[in-house]
Amino acid sequence: MRRLWPLLLLLPACELHCGPKAGPLPTFDANHAYDLILAYEKLGPKPVGSEALARAMTWIRQELETSGAKVLVQEVKVRPPVGPEVMARNVIGQFDPDKKERVLLSAHYDTRPFADEERDPKKQKQAVPGVNDGGSGTALLLGLARALKHSRPNVGVDLLFLDAEDAGLPHQAGSYCLGTQAWAKNPVPAGYRARFGINFDMVGRIGATFPIEGHSGARAASVVAKVHAAAQALDLSDYFPRQSAPFIIDDHVYLMDGLGIPVMDIIHLTPEGRFPPEWHTLQDTSEFISRDVLKAVGQTTLRVLWNE
Ligand SMILES: [Zn+2]
Repeated sequence: MRRLWPLLLLLPACELHCGPKAGPLPTFDANHAYDLILAYEKLGPKPVGSEALARAMTWIRQELETSGAKVLVQEVKVRPPVGPEVMARNVIGQFDPDKKERVLLSAHYDTRPFADEERDPKKQKQAVPGVNDGGSGTALLLGLARALKHSRPNVGVDLLFLDAEDAGLPHQAGSYCLGTQAWAKNPVPAGYRARFGINFDMVGRIGATFPIEGHSGARAASVVAKVHAAAQALDLSDYFPRQSAPFIIDDHVYLMDGLGIPVMDIIHLTPEGRFPPEWHTLQDTSEFISRDVLKAVGQTTLRVLWNE
């Protein structure tokens, strides 16, 4: 017993009581994230229920497993407003699944089945590439997974890839975010809990900024404050103007309703509520993706995780 004393005195108090400390803050690899965007684009448009979406799900799963995440898939039947009932698949990649204190990061990985923002009625029937609207959030989460492969924060991290987000009709309430609605009511793993969440949607476009979306400001102000503090510490505040923007029904609203935790939506829109010009058109391709924007959002998010 006496011999142990010098050894114990060398250990900092936290090593004895709180387990291992967080690893060093990783750098978000924007080139890797951009390569992920190109890989996503190459799979083609991914409307809910499509073969291309199934291939994307397999690819996401492999990427998560390569990064050391524990992967779970939820299969759930959904009925989009147009077309038949289809199987939707939500994928969750968990880092340090045994940790009780967790942060949820989410994005949809399906793309819109119709380009209804096109002027030409023939084009309106085609599926969008969705490289920013679907691809950027997916690439961001997979880029974060790669960063977490080698270094971890104090909290457990869950990366949630949501299906059937973008098959809704603008004037039909509840027709968007079908995968999220199912997961939020009946999460996988069962009884899922997190401190808070951040949802990413359209986070790759050249020139993007992310003012405070309405529901995020009203119901997730604590998360908005975390993101603003992290961005400020990294000198990236220009990407996150402290300016209010309109209320958007996105995955975060259903996650807040279902889980009872604050969830911020990091979404590219103007303070007037306009989305990028390629939104829901056939022009939503990698031509308009910026490594700098992906880097700013990815690095800010890592900093938020490491501040926990
Ligand atoms: Zn969309």
